[in-house]
Amino acid sequence: MKTITTLFIFCLFLSCSSKSDDGTQTENTSARFDLTAVKVTNASGDAPVKGDEITITMTVKNTGSSSGTVAISPKLSSSRFGDYHNVALDAVEGTLQAGETTQLTLTVGPFFKDAIKEKHYALGSGEYFFEAFELNGADDKEFEGRIFQVATSNRVLVPVIYDPTYFSKVNYNGSMKTYLEQAFTRKIELYNEGNYTEFEGGLDEMMDIEHLFYTIPTGNVSAYDAEGGLCEKAIALGGDALGLTKDWEGPVGTQGNNHGFDYLMAITPDSFGGVACGWIDVQVTGVFDFDLSIDRSQILIIHETSHLLGSPHCDQYDVEGYVMCGGEKHRKYIDHGIFVYYQRSRDMMSNKFD
Ligand SMILES: [Zn+2]
Repeated sequence: MKTITTLFIFCLFLSCSSKSDDGTQTENTSARFDLTAVKVTNASGDAPVKGDEITITMTVKNTGSSSGTVAISPKLSSSRFGDYHNVALDAVEGTLQAGETTQLTLTVGPFFKDAIKEKHYALGSGEYFFEAFELNGADDKEFEGRIFQVATSNRVLVPVIYDPTYFSKVNYNGSMKTYLEQAFTRKIELYNEGNYTEFEGGLDEMMDIEHLFYTIPTGNVSAYDAEGGLCEKAIALGGDALGLTKDWEGPVGTQGNNHGFDYLMAITPDSFGGVACGWIDVQVTGVFDFDLSIDRSQILIIHETSHLLGSPHCDQYDVEGYVMCGGEKHRKYIDHGIFVYYQRSRDMMSNKFD
């Protein structure tokens, strides 16, 4: 009888070890979690391509002896892009019974911010891997499905730094993202030897690309304290805003140190038109104070991007009235707000990003 009593007290003592000072049962002391497998797909359940939102499916098992809640967050790294290591994604939570296995999902992208550092990323094409998953604060590095690929696509991933006072100038009430989507997908026409080809889907359709914009409100780029002209100020401000380790880098193309983004755009309320600097993969567009219409302001933006895509001005062909040479003078623009491209300009343009 004495032995039984001793055993009973001993067991009681053991079970008491998981009680906190006020005597209530603390959670999770005997729930243990193990991440066994990870799978990454796009919204359709297929392998992701550049510009997709991805769903990370995490198979987690509670190997402990009581139910408990797990908070799990992926640490994502890119094999292609620099300063893209152990990016902390958001955490998801689940409650599992003892012995239960479940799948938790997290949907992110194509743009995201590190949950801890002030750094912004795009899910460009290339190989990615998970360094670890944090489970209730402890790293789990042993699981299936560490590596996944993002295939290239025609999406162009553009970070946009902009001064919000731009909108009071052009008198627009929506978001910068909506404004830019409108600029790149509004109807354009392509002129070639007397014929017009219509592109209802705008510049994006003509180029068979799809711009995806990630907008970050900042101060005015022209007021940013950096050496050089507007483009140089933009790559410094852009590097700062995105949390790059240094300035945004060129030339035009998908570069290794721009956190997976393609080209940088800066929008300013300054009245000067715009400027494109292909060698540093950036365009800066302002306005013209003498014509603050949305039509005129948007044609400036697509003009500068068209430079980055390879087109010079078209007045060298002794023409006028097209997007790359006085597009605001074309009859179709004046009457219907249609941007008209000249075929020889189009021929110079191509998608520089992968
Ligand atoms: Zn120009």
